[in-house]
This record gives sequence, C-alpha cells and structure tokens, in this order.
Amino acid sequence: MNAKHILIVEDEQPIREMVAFALANAGYDVQEAADARQAQIRISERLPDLMLLDWMLPGISGIDYARRLKKDDLTRDLPIIMLTARAEEEDTVQGLESGADDYMTKPFSPRELVARIRAVLRRGGPAGEDEILRANGLSLDLASHRVSAGDTLLEMGPTEYRLLEFFMAHPERVYSRGQLLDRVWGSNVYVEERTVDVHIRRLRKALEQHGFDALVQTVRGAGYRFSTRV
Ligand code: CA
Repeated sequence: MNAKHILIVEDEQPIREMVAFALANAGYDVQEAADARQAQIRISERLPDLMLLDWMLPGISGIDYARRLKKDDLTRDLPIIMLTARAEEEDTVQGLESGADDYMTKPFSPRELVARIRAVLRRGGPAGEDEILRANGLSLDLASHRVSAGDTLLEMGPTEYRLLEFFMAHPERVYSRGQLLDRVWGSNVYVEERTVDVHIRRLRKALEQHGFDALVQTVRGAGYRFSTRV
C-alpha cells in the first residue's frame, strides 16, 4: 500500500501526538515538527503529500510560513490544512488567503480531521481516484457518484448528491445555510437561503426509506449537521 505522507507542524505536544496517533491509525505515514524550522528539515528529507499547520507557532507564525511555502517552487502545490484555535471569520479568511487549502478550528475530532484530509487530498490528487465515504451503512462512491445503503442504490438529484458528499466529508459539524450555499453551491451563485431547506428535504426523502434521513440533523437557530450520533 502506498500510504500518503502527512507532516504535522504543531508546537503543542499533546495535540501533535493526538493527531499523529489518529492519522497513523487511519493508515497515514506521519511525521512531526514543532515549528517552521523543524518542518523545513523534514521537508528537505522528504516532501509530504499534505501539511497540517498550526496557526500559532513560536518563531514564524503558521500564516507566514504558509505564505513562504506557497512562494517556494518545491512546496507551491503542497496542500495545507491550517489548525486554528480562533473561530473569528476574519482570521480564517486570512488563513485561506495565505494559501491554506482548508482550516480546522480546535478542538476537532480525529474522525473529522481524517475526513477533511481525504477531501483535500482528493482535490489535489488524480481524478477518478477510488474513494468511498461511509457513515454507518451509508456509502458514497466519489468515482461513480453512487450512493448506496448496503446493496441498494439510492436515487437522488445532483444537488442532493453534492450536499450529501459535502456532509459526509465534514461530519459532526454545524453549517449555517449561508455556509452550505458557499461550500456546495459556490460563493458566486446567488441563491436564497430557503433553497437549502428545499434540498435538505429532498435529501432526507432520498435517505428516508433506509432510515438514514436521521443523519441529516437540524440544529435549531444554527443550521444543519451530518452526524451518526443522535
Ligand atoms: Ca500552537
């Protein structure tokens, strides 16, 4: 098996070790660095497939380091997921502008992190990669765009499929209607927020027959969440 190589750059040792442990369990080849200087040494030894980069690092900050990596020919295409303890919208925008491909706000579950890593690696990887997202007995095949419950194929429209794909890649996290519009419909599209509710309803209907509609949960006053927990 050709394991993907992930470099974790994080100065807080307990977090770094927790993440390293979770990723090794998920089958990744993991290396650790406590700051940008150590990360550069690791990179010179072997270029990772993806970097998890903490925002607040001693010395060069995660953001400045991400900017540097994007200027360097060797690391320009290296996917970066920023790890941040801050939740302010402005900060995450700044993080993404620095060249990060995605960000995660601490604390996060290892499961969610693995799903995000898969999603980012898929974007950068060769098309048609054989990948399947799973939740309980529900599976979504990214290559064929097929959704199945056990042996049964589930019928749904293209928007419901994209919504489900987004949810399955980002489980256990609440998204507002506006965020779902940005992430699933695209930020340049003008659609009313009510549209999200319509497609959520259709998605639940498509999943209902097999009881998987319960995975698409309404969080009152906040939005929607995909969760295998009740
Ligand atoms: Ca830190």
